[in-house]
Order: sequence, then structure tokens, then C-alpha cells
Amino acid sequence: MNSKQIVLASRPKGTPTSEDFRIENVELPELKEDDLLLQGMYYSVDPYMRGRMNDAKSYVAPFKVGQPIEGGVVAKVVESKSVDFKTGDIVMGALPWQQQIVAPAKGVKKIDASIAPASYYLGILGMPGLTAYFGLMDITKPKAGETVVVSGAAGAVGVVVGQIAKIQGCRVIGIAGTDDKINLLKETFGFDEGINYKTTADIKQAIAQLCPNGVDVYFDNVGGAISDAVISNINFHARIALCGQIALYNSTEVPMGPRLQPMLLTRSVLMQGFIVSNYQSRFPEGIQQLAQWITAGKLKFTETILQGFEQLPAALIGLFKGVNTGKMVVEA
Ligand code: NAP
Repeated sequence: MNSKQIVLASRPKGTPTSEDFRIENVELPELKEDDLLLQGMYYSVDPYMRGRMNDAKSYVAPFKVGQPIEGGVVAKVVESKSVDFKTGDIVMGALPWQQQIVAPAKGVKKIDASIAPASYYLGILGMPGLTAYFGLMDITKPKAGETVVVSGAAGAVGVVVGQIAKIQGCRVIGIAGTDDKINLLKETFGFDEGINYKTTADIKQAIAQLCPNGVDVYFDNVGGAISDAVISNINFHARIALCGQIALYNSTEVPMGPRLQPMLLTRSVLMQGFIVSNYQSRFPEGIQQLAQWITAGKLKFTETILQGFEQLPAALIGLFKGVNTGKMVVEA
């Protein structure tokens, strides 16, 4: 049996292009004891995948040139050689970008599509939701009445961060790249204020106006000039969760911003980087809390779903152009 797969054709220089990917046919192996034959349903594209396209040592191994890209996939079991799974089960796991996949049963877990749509397990009930929950609650420990600023606010992580901060009783300001995204943050997700960083001439000044008492919590999804502007307004005893630096992922040189460490020092600010997998042992707690807030109607979510397996490269590249609102997913 054959399947289509998408491989890394070359390592990008700067922003990835469609030439960095190639669609191929692959012969699937025979199923062995404890193997599953899976049909891919929803494929996740995530900013961290850009780092895996480089040949650089990191917290996760680089993709190999000529080998399939791998990421979060929700799939249906077509055939099972495992006693734990039956045909028709919906599962998710870190799987190759293939339409049909032969995978060991121990590499996937069943999901309950009655709580939320199956694709939400790649978003609010998956890695991005857990990132928002643990990064905000564990690192920044927001308190009622504090001012929270979120960059990348209209993305998969950002929309969840802002809503959790509202649940904690904070005032929330989101930074995103279009007026439509800002309107959505305020009207659908309950953010108090928003800043369109692409049309605001002086972001530092805009934050100063919206946060007259300073920024108590900054959840940083983007880095670069936006973060320089937010940190320039940081309050005494503020906490900064360093979640992502997407503004820098395609940089070929390390850009040098203003040196803000004296401000962090004199204002006793905590800034901490984290990787969501640091919290692996607490994932059940995070999923339970997120699911409870969803069921109670306190947490909403949104997705940008591109149709067709072949759209995967465009979807990944689209993350760096702001094509998505909420979680970017490809439906095969
Ligand atoms: P996302 O926000 O859904 O998608 C990326 C968004 O980033 C785009 O829609 C775009 O929105 C914005 N963006 C792209 N280039 C930008 C730039 N140069 N400057 C400012 N904004 C830019 O992605 P996500 O999955 O929620 O991830 C958000 C961040 O968290 C990423 O940096 C990611 O690497 C990080 N992350 C970290 C962890 C962890 O364990 N630490 C886990 C998950 C994600 P606009 O229209 O607003 O520009």
C-alpha cells in the first residue's frame, strides 16, 4: 500500500518557501504485532517546526533532509493489531506528514471527541492550550487586578492566555497584526484592549497609554521590537513568561535590541523561559482544568483550517505571515 508524504527537501535560509518541501509516495510497511494503520484527519503546524528545519541542536531533534516532517496529528484507526485500539478509534500523536501511517500503538493515545471537536486536541486541549495554562499560571502567577499583556495574542497560545488571565480577574491587553484580530480578541475573547502592531507607529507609547500603572505580567510569544516596547513599560515585581520568539525564528543573524536588563534588575522583574514539556507530569491537571473551563463556557477557541493534505507547507509558512487566527490546522 502506498501513501503520500511530505518531506523536508532543503533547509530554509530565512523564511521557508514551498521549495523547501516535497511531496512523495512512500510504500507502507506490513503491520506487525501492536501496530496501527492510521488515516490522518487533522495535522498541526506550529512555529517550533521552523527551528526543527535548521541543523541545530535544540530541545527537539532537527528534521532530516529527505525525511518526512513530523508533528501533532489526529488520525482515525483503520486497522489495529493492538488489543488496546479498534477500527474507528480517534487517536493523536507525534506522527509523520503522511496520509496513511503505520505506527506502533504505544506512540499514540485515544482522544475523546465528545468533549470538543477532534482538532481541538491539537489546540486548546493539546500542546498550545497547555503552554498557555502552565506558562501563565505557573510562571507569571497572575493576581486579580493586575495588568497582563500578551503578544501573538490572536494565535493558538495567545487567545487562551488572555482568557485565562481574564478568569483570574486581570486586565488584559493583546497585541496582534490586524484590526480584525484585535476586534475578535475584544468581542469574542473578552480582552480589554488590543494593539495592532503593524499599524501602531509607537508601540511603547501605546502600551504606556493603555497601562498607566505599568505591565505586571507579560506573556511573550513573539520577542523582537514588540517585546522591547512591552518591557520598556514593565512594572516593579512584574513576571515575564518567555514562551516564543517568532519574530526571530527566520533571522539569519541575531539582532541586538535595546539592553533592558538594567530595568529588569532595578524593578525586581522575573523573566523565565520555558518549554511546555517541562510540565509533562502535570499535563493531566492542565487538560482537566482547560476542559472544565470549556464546558463551563469560560474558555472559547478558534481555528484556521486549511483543506487538503497538500496545504501543509503553505499552512506552516502562513504562520510567519499571520494567515491564521487561533490554531492553524490542516484537514486532510
Ligand atoms: P500562532 O500564534 O498561532 O501563530 C503564529 C502567529 O505569530 C501568527 O499568526 C502571527 O500573528 C504572529 N507572528 C508571525 N510573525 C510575527 C512577527 N515577526 N512578529 C510578531 N508576530 C508575528 O502560534 P502559536 O502556536 O500560538 O505559538 C505562539 C508562540 O509560542 C510561538 O513563538 C511559538 O514558538 C511559541 N510556543 C512555545 C511553546 C513552548 O513550549 N515554549 C509551545 C507552543 C508555542 P499576527 O497576525 O499577530 O502577526
